[in-house]
Amino acid sequence: MTAKTESAAPQLIDKFGRRVDYVRISVTDRCDFRCVYCMSEQMTFLPRDQVLSLEEIEQVAQAFVALGVTRIRLTGGEPLVRRGIDGLLHKLGALDGLDELVLTTNGSQLSRLSKEMKEAGVKRINISLDSLQADRFKRITRTGRLEQVLDGIDEALSVGFERIKLNAVIMKGRNEDEVIDLVAYAREKGLDISFIEEMPLGNIDHERIETYCSSDEVKDIIEQQFPLIAASDRTAGPSRYYRMADSESRIGFISPHSHNFCSECNRVRVTVEGRLLLCLGNEHSLDLMPILREYPGDQLRLQRAIIKAMDLKPEKHEFDLESEPQIVRFMNMTGG
Ligand code: SAM
Ligand code: SF4
Repeated sequence: MTAKTESAAPQLIDKFGRRVDYVRISVTDRCDFRCVYCMSEQMTFLPRDQVLSLEEIEQVAQAFVALGVTRIRLTGGEPLVRRGIDGLLHKLGALDGLDELVLTTNGSQLSRLSKEMKEAGVKRINISLDSLQADRFKRITRTGRLEQVLDGIDEALSVGFERIKLNAVIMKGRNEDEVIDLVAYAREKGLDISFIEEMPLGNIDHERIETYCSSDEVKDIIEQQFPLIAASDRTAGPSRYYRMADSESRIGFISPHSHNFCSECNRVRVTVEGRLLLCLGNEHSLDLMPILREYPGDQLRLQRAIIKAMDLKPEKHEFDLESEPQIVRFMNMTGG
């Protein structure tokens, strides 16, 4: 089905003149891991009827593409544990007008699904990896197995995925001593790697102020071994990139605290409950679920609602590590 559009070349522009051409869709709040910075040990997941169906996700994606969005990232929770994800990938991969279907994963299912993902047209993948030590990996993810993820990375490489990017959340006293090892692994495998500052999303089981490690600290650690050269190329994202003289791997830093990236923000998110979230660090949102459920298949109504919601996009995020989390939703709901 081809989505109808309101005019020939519609675009999503917010009231600060920023063009939104990138959407991140959370396809499930569930996950086979329980990473300490993302979830609390005891998590309650949503009842199935409160979660977007695969058909509803497809409709949302169609609407955004009809409105000029050229890149969709599927995330979660763990997107690859959602039943039927392979079918959804094939549908989205075939959407006319979509340049890039990309996905963020914890890597646990990549041995099983890499080939299917490649065939469906997934262009690039980001894989989370916070430690290369099996026991520590288990402590951070609580239920993950390092071996399984490393095998998954090898499988993704062997089916031909290029420019795979690792994401590592660095926490003081937990894994900051592995920064160099992670960079060395990325170099050896020919991967890019981004280091992410921990964000205060949801109440978890440790005090984030105690584990906070700034991107500048991580950069200093890396430069003791691998001098970094600022890269002029940018992806359409919040990462600042660097290169090393002797490697193809790029090093990125995602620094919501220390380097504000809001003025270039080109993205919105759709939560697993169908909430269109205009900013990761704010609660401004529009609930798309009532439209999807009351008017199934009404693309024009959906598109109009999305266009109108752009007025809600705030100028910048509000993260503050010192106070209680203002944002009570967890990252797995938001679609990190
Ligand atoms: N399960 C997939 C994964 O782990 O890659 C996709 C979802 S996960 C929420 C997306 C990214 O968000 C991961 O790279 C994870 O490390 C990051 N993340 C989760 N909670 C975070 C937090 N509180 N602060 C910073 N990054 C976080
Ligand atoms: Fe799961 Fe990803 Fe959150 Fe870890 S960061 S608990 S893998 S959703």
